[in-house]
Amino acid sequence: MSFRIAVGGIHTECSTSSPVLMKTEDFRVWRGDELLQADYFSFLNQSGVEALPLLHARAVPGGPISWAAYEGFKAEFLERLEESLPIDGLYLAMHGAMNVEGMDDAEGDWISAARALVGPDCPIAASYDLHGNVSKRIVDQLDIFAAYRTAPHIDVRETMVRAWAMLLRMLETGERPGVVFAPIPLLLPGERTSTEDEPTKGLYDLLPTYDREPGIWDANLMIGYVWADEPRATACAVVTGTDRLAAIRVAQEIADSYWHARSEFRFGPVTGPLEEMLDVAARATTRPVILADSGDNPTGGGVGDRADVLNALIARGWGEAVIGGITDPVAVEQCFAAGAGAELSLRIGGGLDPASPFAEATAKVVTLDAGSLPAERQAVVAIGDIIVILAARRRPYHNISDFTRLGIDPQAVPLLVVKSGYLSPELSPIANPNLMALTDGVINQDIEAMKSTRRVQPIYPFVKDFSYTASARPSARWSDD
Ligand SMILES: [Zn+2]
Repeated sequence: MSFRIAVGGIHTECSTSSPVLMKTEDFRVWRGDELLQADYFSFLNQSGVEALPLLHARAVPGGPISWAAYEGFKAEFLERLEESLPIDGLYLAMHGAMNVEGMDDAEGDWISAARALVGPDCPIAASYDLHGNVSKRIVDQLDIFAAYRTAPHIDVRETMVRAWAMLLRMLETGERPGVVFAPIPLLLPGERTSTEDEPTKGLYDLLPTYDREPGIWDANLMIGYVWADEPRATACAVVTGTDRLAAIRVAQEIADSYWHARSEFRFGPVTGPLEEMLDVAARATTRPVILADSGDNPTGGGVGDRADVLNALIARGWGEAVIGGITDPVAVEQCFAAGAGAELSLRIGGGLDPASPFAEATAKVVTLDAGSLPAERQAVVAIGDIIVILAARRRPYHNISDFTRLGIDPQAVPLLVVKSGYLSPELSPIANPNLMALTDGVINQDIEAMKSTRRVQPIYPFVKDFSYTASARPSARWSDD
């Protein structure tokens, strides 16, 4: 006998400060067999299981999702789920920090709709990014939960496999796990809670120890997503297990340990205002100095169209540098129209978010990359010795190949500017050194100065002086048996 397990989900992260709504075309969508053929889901192919692929949609983090785009994906997902019935289980591969215009707790909406369709007896497992925001409504629908334990995220696949393996264990053994949830009134940016730095590292190192306790299957600490001004935004502990009291105790221990460390979280790299960081970069004798433009990081929900750093470099008459990259579809089109080698006056940046600063300069088109779609077009331009990569769509430049594809060797550049928070696993090892500039943008690191009208207060560090004792509750599904 093989188990019929349906698989799908929606995966993105949305800053409610961004005015740039995500639309349908911003998502990479796998439907049906495309999902099974994706390397991302290759662990689904195993004997004894019939994986039933639904729909999986994923977008680079950004602003809220348009209502129409969300409703379109949800309707298609539910239609495919209904067609897949009867099933033995459902696995959802989520991020957890999605925001839909006009809606709170979008994952709660998605997961509740799935639960309503599959009925109360069907096990549902979800995997999450540790930057997701969990709610009681979400937990109440789930039997199994697992989240990343690394940031930068180098355990994406392992996490998905943890959730999947727990679902199979449940089906094979007949054990009935449940989920326990302990909210923590603490919201910090990922840049101050990298698992490569203390005290976060030590807290996450303990999680596998909890997994080995009797009756505990999977212990999780969720950092949450601070740039979502909505009621559910908090950190939390979420524990999957079969021993309810043990799961409650472990969730409370994890929650208390995070709370007690609250004043100790720091930025990992040398961090400061942009001008101060450029002073440090100017004195550096090593290369590449990698400067993270943190307020405009697209992988954290930033718009990616700001020219703050470009303007600062032009103003300083900077020498050799590479900026990877600035999203500006109009400037890219102008470069393609002018052709490689042409000189033109360009306005760069500020094309997506009217609040984003732009730069004006005479630029020479160095390289044009047509990609396979118009949205993938890139243009490399030179403004004096400053090389700027322009992208037609919002995207990060966090991999070595993003640069080498365009003929740029990131290791050879004296100053490499990327729109990033903590550096990616590929850029981090070559940074010599890494500097992080506290630049403006919709994911500004100045948390305490951020508008907070809808987060349920008190939350540290918006409010500093209050007491908290962890209190974990089992999901509604696990409360009444
Ligand atoms: Zn994340």
